[in-house]
Amino acid sequence: MTHDTRPEQAKKLADIDWNNLGFSYIRTDLRYLSHWKDGEWDAGTLTQDNMIHLAEGSTALHYGQQCFEGLKAYRCADGSVNLFRPDQNAARMRSSCRRLLMPEISDEMFIDACKQVVQANEHFLPPYGTGGSLYLRPFVIGVGDNIGVRTAPEFLFSVFCVPVGPYFKGGLTPTNFITSGYDRAAPNGTGAAKVGGNYAASLLPGFEAKKRDFADVVYLDPATHTKIEEAGAANFFAVTKDSKKFITPKSPSILPSITKYSLLWLAEHRLGLEVEEGDIHIEQLDEFSEAGACGTAAVITPIGGIQHGDTFHVFHSETEPGPVTRRLYDELVGIQYGDKEAPEGWIVKVEGGEG
Ligand SMILES: *Cc1c(COP(=O)(O)O)cnc(C)c1O
Repeated sequence: MTHDTRPEQAKKLADIDWNNLGFSYIRTDLRYLSHWKDGEWDAGTLTQDNMIHLAEGSTALHYGQQCFEGLKAYRCADGSVNLFRPDQNAARMRSSCRRLLMPEISDEMFIDACKQVVQANEHFLPPYGTGGSLYLRPFVIGVGDNIGVRTAPEFLFSVFCVPVGPYFKGGLTPTNFITSGYDRAAPNGTGAAKVGGNYAASLLPGFEAKKRDFADVVYLDPATHTKIEEAGAANFFAVTKDSKKFITPKSPSILPSITKYSLLWLAEHRLGLEVEEGDIHIEQLDEFSEAGACGTAAVITPIGGIQHGDTFHVFHSETEPGPVTRRLYDELVGIQYGDKEAPEGWIVKVEGGEG
């Protein structure tokens, strides 16, 4: 590691325009890397090198043997640093690893790697009040010499981080979605695993939706194409017209979003709504007065309207978020930045923060 000769003050914050951060790659100082061989993960190290040198036959490159996670670190008003439900990301990564026959990572190893990366790049953590956060990208890839279709002889687990801005610069702005004839996953495929293959399948439909000025695609259930599954790379939710019920789709080909499960809990326990994971038929959209997409990156994106065939269904409004969507957003984001009381176990502090 090169010695940082900048004055103490300058080391505290990277030279970044915090108020104009988007969701783009920015190279940060250090990333975590652990190597699996002969049945075990090594101790893991932090490295400055943001390049990975891989065997040409690596299964990650040919057969899609890889999975990833996404979570954020938040700077609080008191200077401390929050991770939001990292144990849930660790558990989901184990489930993705099992589905793709990759070695699992314990909660302890996963959370420790995330903390190390945040601590080592703390000067890239957007200040409280800017709406930004430090996005963490853990991933596991199959590597090593190979040519046949089988699980890899070796694996890498890495976590890197990128400072990102608020998803909505001008506030909570609704966006429009369109249904697609394409599927991102198969009924008993890898839809519930956070794997690159699902994303590769979504690139073309997403590109076509954007060409038509939609934010992204609403995916329907791959078996019958009658029920809503996902909104782009986010989960879908809707609120019934009487504003009493919060509903999200239930299906084995949906990626189980941690944000979605957090909203189900908040809708029930903080907003007093009835909650349900059930079927949302694309033909029944007029039962709902609000809808949204939710995920770590998207936080909560209100959905203005959905184009399905020749019909365009508008929910609350194409320009303003609905009242339930707004209250859920305020609860969730308030908890993430430490401004609102978190349910037991939702916040893990990164030691070494200023607070
Ligand atoms: C990661 C992801 C989500 C969101 O999950 P969170 O845990 O809320 O970030 C939703 N849908 C898909 C397809 C995803 O890959």
